[in-house]
Amino acid sequence: ETQKETLGFQTEVKQLLHLMIHSLYSNKEIFLRELISNASDAVDKLRFESVSNADLLSDDPNLRVRIGFDKDAGTITIDDNGIGMSRDEAISNLGTIAKSGTAQFLDQLSGDQKKDSQLIGQFGVGFYSAFIVADKVTVETRRAGHEEAIRWESEGTGEFTIEAIDKATRGTSITLHLKDDAQEFADNWRLRSLVSKYSDHISIPVEMLKVATPEYDEEGNVKPADENAEPTWEAVNSAKALWTRPRNEVSDEEYQEFYKHVSHDYQDALKWSHNKVEGKLEYTSLLYIPAKAPQDLWNRDMLRGLKLYVQRVFIMDDAEAFLPPYMRFVKGVVDSNDLSLNVSREILQNDNAVDSMRSALTKRVLDMLSKMAKNDPDTYQSFWNEFGNVLKEGPADDFGNKDKIAELLRFSSTHTDNAAQTESLKGYVERMAEDQDKIYYIYAENHNTAKNSPHLEVLRKKGYEVLLLSDRIDEWMMSSLREFDGKTFQDVTKGKLDIEVEESEEQKKEKEQKAEQMKPLLDRMKSVLEGKVTSVNSTDRLTNSPACLVVGEFDMGLQMRRLLEQAGQ
Ligand code: ADP
Ligand code: MG
Repeated sequence: ETQKETLGFQTEVKQLLHLMIHSLYSNKEIFLRELISNASDAVDKLRFESVSNADLLSDDPNLRVRIGFDKDAGTITIDDNGIGMSRDEAISNLGTIAKSGTAQFLDQLSGDQKKDSQLIGQFGVGFYSAFIVADKVTVETRRAGHEEAIRWESEGTGEFTIEAIDKATRGTSITLHLKDDAQEFADNWRLRSLVSKYSDHISIPVEMLKVATPEYDEEGNVKPADENAEPTWEAVNSAKALWTRPRNEVSDEEYQEFYKHVSHDYQDALKWSHNKVEGKLEYTSLLYIPAKAPQDLWNRDMLRGLKLYVQRVFIMDDAEAFLPPYMRFVKGVVDSNDLSLNVSREILQNDNAVDSMRSALTKRVLDMLSKMAKNDPDTYQSFWNEFGNVLKEGPADDFGNKDKIAELLRFSSTHTDNAAQTESLKGYVERMAEDQDKIYYIYAENHNTAKNSPHLEVLRKKGYEVLLLSDRIDEWMMSSLREFDGKTFQDVTKGKLDIEVEESEEQKKEKEQKAEQMKPLLDRMKSVLEGKVTSVNSTDRLTNSPACLVVGEFDMGLQMRRLLEQAGQ
């Protein structure tokens, strides 16, 4: 029964470990952040399970993480009294099941060590960072409510061992046998300063042994320490959930460190909004806008949402019911006093309190963006460059907030003739010509086609600005945007443009004559093109090009047609 079993790591895990051991040595210290973060997750899970099974907590109710070290042995131990792992869980979580993140992580590596080591947390491969500093890792763990405990051990090469052991209490204890070049971490002050740097916001105490203040005898020599004194553990962090603290007591650095903890991002957030709501509903929210878009942002099914807590108890990650899909870039926490601790994803989908919170949080994000756009346009522009195409889903997704969203949109336009999307609708309206009453736009497959379209000629001549749309989402967006500031949107490729070019009586006559002369030609063309076009007309829309195709006013746009054609319709 106590036999040691040797198992192999999954192939991708092997690659990952090789990398940790041989290449990621420029930012070694992050191992501590990752292991403390796992310990804190394990405690959150225990607290959650104990809601329905109070016995799990009772024999050891003070939840904490403890960090110990032995300078002589060259070891560090991170010990938690959280949920622990069963034998099967340890085998799969620590080595045989490659998480989706592992392959992605390996794909993303740039060879730049600093960047690469920062990717570790983002892809959920934090545990393996232990091997950056250790040449052997020993995990002793016992699942809450189970009798059996196990020891998992590995040197980070191809395999790990697993064996049954005795362990008096639930939870996980991880011992790192430090490499020669990582001995510096087995040090009281070094460890303390890393905890304050990375883990201050962790909501449970991260404890270390109190260092006895030396006592001196009359000759000024240090008195020998009292051998019998019980060691006392003290919290090194502030051990209070960050979002429960008043805003003015949280520094920007703390907000940023917490952001990295909830988002697994390694870069600073662009902006955040922290609010406590009291009244009919009571909840606290802390919402962050990231600086950079993740890989899977374009997938509407990507994992998204907020970390949900109910009365400080962690309930779930990625609670998507609190924000609409077009805000899937937002990260953060919501802590409710109204929901039940037994709430499930299904319940969240059909709960009135959640609906109200969702609309309030949506407004909160829109306000945060409006303020940014107004007070800090450069930052807003960088937000738009990363996330603009997701926000463009907004008018169709969230009809009620369409006007607010419209103000946040940025376009490429003939004002700059540049592909960069920098122009707001407000700016467009301010620049509108005196006799202009519509907002003109065109879509095409790409910016250059849009910009050089013959449809624009007459508008350019009149000095009317045209929005140049070429993102796939644009037509979908425009189908929900009917007007802005009382001006309707007009697709310049559709129907009649009603643009009056001032003309004298003589010019009018000349035109009529020309039309007369053209009639036989047009009739001829109509019969040649029969079945391919509905009509052939002469136009004053063009100034340089001989001909162009237009779509009827009530017909589908060209881009939408192409999409449907591609889909085989
Ligand atoms: P992530 O934390 O993103 O899931 P990690 O590589 O950091 O990825 O951890 C892998 C898994 O190992 C965790 O999801 C968890 O199931 C398990 N694990 C790691 N550390 C602990 C711990 N201290 N207590 C219980 N389970 C743990
Ligand atoms: Mg982790």
